[in-house]
Amino acid sequence: MICTNCGTQFEDGNAFCPNCGTPAAQPAPAPAAAQPQYGYAPQSQPIYAAPTGAVGDPEAAKSCMITGILAAAFACSFFLSFLGIVFGAIGLSKVKQYMGQYGDYPAKVRIGKYLSIGGLAFGGFMTIYCAIYILGLIIGVASNLR
Ligand SMILES: [Zn+2]
Repeated sequence: MICTNCGTQFEDGNAFCPNCGTPAAQPAPAPAAAQPQYGYAPQSQPIYAAPTGAVGDPEAAKSCMITGILAAAFACSFFLSFLGIVFGAIGLSKVKQYMGQYGDYPAKVRIGKYLSIGGLAFGGFMTIYCAIYILGLIIGVASNLR
């Protein structure tokens, strides 16, 4: 046997090289084919679906959520409630685009969807309310000027 480290030749029975102490090369393990087969060949796992967390674009999902948050926040403001409609519409189109691209709903996209719908609906309601309020204010001011 020849040492794999220093090249010293030594007896086959030695477990270590007498020159440098490197363990003697082990005999090659039996090839896998020689092992008994039990009628079951391990196969690679079939891929049913990619894990939910790995699907899609995290940045796009985040963008959906942020747009939804903006839609809801503006809808709750009084004079800027029309921006709730604007961001709600943008948010829903982003969610729709995300779904078309990845066909999946991560939590952030779902949050963005619900907030966008909420922002759109409540923003619409608040915009009408705000318009009536401003109209009333104008009429009030106008009647006072008379
Ligand atoms: Zn050696």
